[in-house]
Amino acid sequence: MKIKFIKIIVLLTICILLIFLFRSCQHKENIIHDDPYINLYLSGEKRVIKLKLEDYIIGTVAAEMPASFEIEALKAQAVCARTYALRKIIDSHKYPMGADLADDINTCQAYISPEEFARRHPQQRDIIKKISKAIHETQGEIMVYKNQPIDALYHSTCGGCTESAANVWSTDISYLQSVKCEYCNQSRYYSTVQVFSTSDIGTITNSGKLPVDIKITATTPSGRAKKIMVNSEDLSGEQFRRILQLPSSWLNLQCADDKLIINSRGYGHGVGMCQYGANGMAQKGKKYRQILNYYYQDIQIKKLDY
Ligand SMILES: [Zn+2]
Repeated sequence: MKIKFIKIIVLLTICILLIFLFRSCQHKENIIHDDPYINLYLSGEKRVIKLKLEDYIIGTVAAEMPASFEIEALKAQAVCARTYALRKIIDSHKYPMGADLADDINTCQAYISPEEFARRHPQQRDIIKKISKAIHETQGEIMVYKNQPIDALYHSTCGGCTESAANVWSTDISYLQSVKCEYCNQSRYYSTVQVFSTSDIGTITNSGKLPVDIKITATTPSGRAKKIMVNSEDLSGEQFRRILQLPSSWLNLQCADDKLIINSRGYGHGVGMCQYGANGMAQKGKKYRQILNYYYQDIQIKKLDY
């Protein structure tokens, strides 16, 4: 009887130890312990609001991706938006009035409050529930590389192949490499044509010198313009894109009489996740983790401790 009692005690002790070990491992998985509140600068109103990180993500996904997209694409966007925000906070990047983040798409991510979303989309009130579901089902999840949140860049439409960070910003980042994308051809930005007059070209060179001599002198392996020469002036593909407000630096130039015809592929810098591609993958049955692992290389998805 005494031996049986000792056996029970030993078994109980082992069970308690195993539970303790399991909880410790779970705790290690949750690599970041952070206040889930953020300060967001609203550039239009020039004021800062404080809101929970997950509420901010709802407003960011609503502003950054069409709510008509597949739920798995919205979930992928939620993880991107959360990771992007967290990376900014960890890097101590400060916005006006000392805010952690801003709703300015030129320096951060877009954001729309649920109230403003409902006002702009009075017929689609249930859509915000669909977005909230995507955020809830990925709650706290972020992408990490070597245990650090990644710089989760994304763009609208790549046009058939994403671009490496090295080719856009001359900084090689292991998880931001170029991948083929056959999923975004439903985007209206997949291929676009714009016609400029030669007087518009004057804005490129600041001289307005005519006739304009313009040609692409170097391309990236994906096909984007790396360097463009305009009347002996060298511009990077991204500079040229910004000056003419082109959708992409993946372009083809044709000069005809006093016109410059530009055929562009895609919309955005082309680095990281292609949003229309994410939707295309989801339509083919891919889950959000598969989507993220396709556009970002060698990353892991971890859950924040909250
Ligand atoms: Zn794409």
